[in-house]
Amino acid sequence: MKTVVVREPGRVATEDAAPPREPEPHELALRLHSVGICGGDLALVRGRNPLVSYPVVPGHECVAIVEHDPGGRLATGSSVAIYPTASCGDCRACRAGRFNNCAGMQVLGLSDPRGCLAERFVLPRSQVIPLPAGLGERAGALIEPLAVASHVCDRSALGHGDTALVVGAGAIGLATGLTARANGTERVLFADTLPERVEVLARLGFADFTVCREDDLIAWVKERTGTVDVVFDTVGLTSTAAVASAVLAGGGRYVTIAAAKPGHRIELDYQAFYERELTLVSSRNYTPADFRSAIGRLERGEVDPLPLRTAVYGLSGAAAAFHELLEHPERNVKVLITPDDLLGTTPLLTGVQR
Ligand SMILES: [Zn+2]
Ligand SMILES: [Zn+2]
Repeated sequence: MKTVVVREPGRVATEDAAPPREPEPHELALRLHSVGICGGDLALVRGRNPLVSYPVVPGHECVAIVEHDPGGRLATGSSVAIYPTASCGDCRACRAGRFNNCAGMQVLGLSDPRGCLAERFVLPRSQVIPLPAGLGERAGALIEPLAVASHVCDRSALGHGDTALVVGAGAIGLATGLTARANGTERVLFADTLPERVEVLARLGFADFTVCREDDLIAWVKERTGTVDVVFDTVGLTSTAAVASAVLAGGGRYVTIAAAKPGHRIELDYQAFYERELTLVSSRNYTPADFRSAIGRLERGEVDPLPLRTAVYGLSGAAAAFHELLEHPERNVKVLITPDDLLGTTPLLTGVQR
């Protein structure tokens, strides 16, 4: 079977590998449906992801199809979302359901080198979330960024009628905007350095977008909405924190989503935080409950993530998929990889291949 391996930074290859072993009673045999590539995967390929050691099979944003459930609970052919995080299950955080706060947490395709970019794989039942009929085919691996966004929105204590600024209109920023809107946010503003983002934002129904930075961005927000109740920051720099402290209304929340790099520091305007009683809250990954929230929103038709998918590649073209995303961030949001024989079989898996 085909599997994607990064043996060293800079080298993505599709290789032939032995099929996976038979599942044990607590496991499932799965076939790949789709994997999404994200910034963490690009950092992995560039050799800049502190969680990764090589060789590694990448892929943590994944929907799969059940091939065999020895426990007999899930039907062969049904779709599941992969919960890519394994936690100890026993620490205080895990016992409280905050699996993403477990110190022993491992993520498939990153800190755990057995990722999902393979035609078939075996995973424990605890890492599999059953999907309603048809949803896997419709949304595929786009479910994962929506689960990230569910966690982000929960962390932000978003209220009905709130306004929000999203700094960075990549997959997570866009998924956060979609989820915030579905949760009753009245107006969501976006800022990004790529002017091309205006197209995907228009397809998603968002009209407030700027490429302004820093002082100009502050002036732009003030002109549009005066202040905002929440700033979602997918960038995480002192300069973006300065924007947040300038535009947040009293009691506002500054939600940092950017994956932290080693030694990553942000300087804050404490005077602004104190005087307007602002809150800083970080948001990392998700829990299974966040996947279930995202799945519910998709099922009820409250979010349509399809415009996030900008290209689809077969497993054989994985190197080209990574290359496309590394070389052309301006024309891509989410690049999906699917088994070669699924390419073109559904609207989700029929996309541009450059
Ligand atoms: Zn990811
Ligand atoms: Zn734990």
